[in-house]
Amino acid sequence: MKKSERKPSTPYTFLKCQSCKISKKRKFEDGDIVFSMTQNCSDCDGKMMITKIFGESMD
Ligand SMILES: [Zn+2]
Repeated sequence: MKKSERKPSTPYTFLKCQSCKISKKRKFEDGDIVFSMTQNCSDCDGKMMITKIFGESMD
């Protein structure tokens, strides 16, 4: 019997809006750095800061 292949972990990026304080999670994208500013908030158009980058394994 063959062992099933392990899937690579999927990293996620956590963002927090500096204006309305909403938190969001999306898939990690190239160039994401913790505590850097990224896209604008979809709710209030404020700046969103990356608070955490987290790798999740897909088992
Ligand atoms: Zn906002």
